Amino acid sequence: TAFVACENKSVPLVGIPGTNQERSFIAIKPDGTQRRLVGEIIARFEKKGFKLVGIKILVPTPEHAAKHYEDLNKKPFFNGLVKFFSSGAVVAMVFEGKDVVRTGRVLIGATDPSQSAPGTIRFDLCIETGRNIIHGSDSNESAAHEIALWFKEDEIANWVSTNPVYEKM
Ligand code: ADP
Repeated sequence: TAFVACENKSVPLVGIPGTNQERSFIAIKPDGTQRRLVGEIIARFEKKGFKLVGIKILVPTPEHAAKHYEDLNKKPFFNGLVKFFSSGAVVAMVFEGKDVVRTGRVLIGATDPSQSAPGTIRFDLCIETGRNIIHGSDSNESAAHEIALWFKEDEIANWVSTNPVYEKM
């Protein structure tokens, strides 16, 4: 058959947990962007085999940042977190692939970089909990919520892997 670069897959905006079409929301925080780590971070997800289906760069408003972190609004660090997250450019992404929510968290490492394992993004590239360069959804439920908060349906590219190495259907 002819090479097909894009096909109409019917994947909902938020993906389908438990399948090859599971999706996670991944964001490079302003410190990661400021430190020119965008390429390095994307490379780790791509080399693993996850499929980038959504990407944009923006400076979030404090309101948007507060909504993104609303579960943490009782924490003492909440105001500082919102201020920092809205202080610069965030690279907002949706990655797709089998088990991407859980495995994405493994690639990222523990919240406190000093507690994270060598080889993870946070161990290898940062030191401080409050400047830990990357966000990743921590459950399928939060992935669905976050993808819908950051992306519209027409901002997602439903492209198909032509190399079967990446997806056993
Ligand atoms: P994660 O980002 O690993 O899912 P949390 O959801 O617990 O972690 O926290 C969200 C973000 O809030 C963290 O990534 C970190 O930037 C910040 N944060 C968490 N705990 C602290 C803390 N004790 N002091 C300062 N910032 C914190």
